[in-house]
Amino acid sequence: MPAEGARREGRAERFHFIIVGGGSAGCVLANRLSEDPADAVLLLEAGHDRPTAAMNVPLFFSKVSADPALGWNYLAEPEPHAGGRALPIKRGKLLGGSSAINGLAYTRGHPGDFDGWAERGARGWSHAEVLPWFRRVENNWRGESDGHGGHGPMPVSRYGRDEALFQRIATAAAAHGFRENDDFDANGADGFGCYDTTTTRGRRATAATQYLDPIRKRPNLVVRTECHVTRIRVENGRATGVDYERAGLSERALATREVLLSGGTYGSPHLLMHSGIGPHSELAAQGIDTVLDLRGVGANLQEHPVVGAMFACNALFRFDRDMRFDRLALSLLRWRMFGTGLLSGVPLGAVGFFRSRPELARPDIEVAFVTSSFAPRPWFPLVRKPNGKTLWCCTWLLSPESRGRVGLRSPDPRDHPTILHNLLAEPADVAALVRALETIRAFAATPPFSDIIESETMPGERGLEDYIRATAVPGAHPTSTCAMGEGSMAVTGPDLKVKGVEGLRVIDASVMPKVISGHTNAATLMIAERGADFVLGRSKPF
Ligand SMILES: Cc1cc2nc3c(=O)[nH]c(=O)nc-3n(C[C@H](O)[C@H](O)[C@H](O)COP(=O)(O)OP(=O)(O)OC[C@H]3O[C@@H](n4cnc5c(N)ncnc54)[C@H](O)[C@@H]3O)c2cc1C
Repeated sequence: MPAEGARREGRAERFHFIIVGGGSAGCVLANRLSEDPADAVLLLEAGHDRPTAAMNVPLFFSKVSADPALGWNYLAEPEPHAGGRALPIKRGKLLGGSSAINGLAYTRGHPGDFDGWAERGARGWSHAEVLPWFRRVENNWRGESDGHGGHGPMPVSRYGRDEALFQRIATAAAAHGFRENDDFDANGADGFGCYDTTTTRGRRATAATQYLDPIRKRPNLVVRTECHVTRIRVENGRATGVDYERAGLSERALATREVLLSGGTYGSPHLLMHSGIGPHSELAAQGIDTVLDLRGVGANLQEHPVVGAMFACNALFRFDRDMRFDRLALSLLRWRMFGTGLLSGVPLGAVGFFRSRPELARPDIEVAFVTSSFAPRPWFPLVRKPNGKTLWCCTWLLSPESRGRVGLRSPDPRDHPTILHNLLAEPADVAALVRALETIRAFAATPPFSDIIESETMPGERGLEDYIRATAVPGAHPTSTCAMGEGSMAVTGPDLKVKGVEGLRVIDASVMPKVISGHTNAATLMIAERGADFVLGRSKPF
């Protein structure tokens, strides 16, 4: 059924706004742009609309994120500086996008990240200027304040950490000069504490559950899943609509006001290139006619490389003790009834943001101290052993200098793009991770943390650089392939309009000029809230 206000023309329907991609950003846009019943909005999502029961359970994060039925199942190009490994990449392909399969950590990034964006040409995106939109996103457990929103659609909940483990780590970190921080967002992502999470009553909160589900019945909003957009139509310099495939058939929809591209860091540049917008040489190599030679499309790919240190410990952590089958059964009951307990979180002891070199302006390293290596396993005495007394120190490099790119694999838009992260191409990135692992070792050798450590399992005796190049993986935070800003490599202006095309904006994680020093979902939601205001003329970047 066409939406109210939408019209059919020939075989094509007409809407005021067409949103491509129902992920973190796309769901925000669908909500905000359909607030006025006079505006007809179409949301097209390539994936499906079938949340699984496991998705609800934060504890099952690692299983959910690896479920091929929920993702795009990309395979990246072999990494020339990371052992030539071709690594699998996780990206959500369903309503909610990557927010439906992510690790639920809510971090906004460091204020300096956004000030840096503004300095790089994204005028109007300094921290002070974006804070109101971060606040609009949040329904923070701390309530409304200058630093937090208390009434937004996205619940931001307190993480129930293992207090005993946390105190050991925080005390050791303090001995090395790192402060305790109970609010990474309001106090800056710096020091040791615990994440907030995007959960509500112990259940995963996604962009779809929070922004889309409550307004799904608006008559002026059409949400179509399993619709793969294959081209943005551009006529006389203006985006006029999209072609998409549904159940093997080609369809067309026209946009009288704007097409909003929210396909994510891999999907958005890929679709732009298949629409003739991108570097001419790359398009020509695939026989695609160039509509606009925009060199920055697909370039500038940034990603946090992740490595880890693992320690064998001398006792089971609270989390692992609670994985005993009988206790787990009780936990399940508790979770179903009250949304609390083991199933309501991931097995995390502490999180630290620190500088690999003291002279850095802000932390460039994040480490999460995870029990059970994110792989919880039920056990019972004499029947099945527990996962082991292990602590995994998952370490992200937050300000990588290496740059990769997203490109075309073939002229067929249904083929996956080529994705080269180029992890560790810059020696400075490896050097920072070496120092990070050395720092983590130093914590682990400091009481009272050292009291629970038996031995280092990884990297062990192996040389650190060798270990890092052999084990680093993408941190699931890719950005910047349609970067906003100024200059010939910018794809959008600060108003998120694609340069050189009318009626087309990119609104998702791909527009970040530089990857932020934290997990990227919150900043993507903020960008979308702000982008919606630009589209509706409620705000301008400056
Ligand atoms: C495994 C994993 C763990 C993560 N952990 C965290 C975390 O703990 N905290 C955090 O803050 N961030 C985390 N992230 C990152 C965060 O979730 C993303 O940065 C954010 O969701 C990106 O939002 P987006 O709107 O840019 O893209 P997405 O949410 O990926 O949305 C893009 C959408 O567009 C659709 N699409 C793409 N191309 C087309 C097309 N041609 N036609 C139609 N539809 C299309 C996709 O199917 C998808 O639904 C994680 C990500 C992953 C994958």
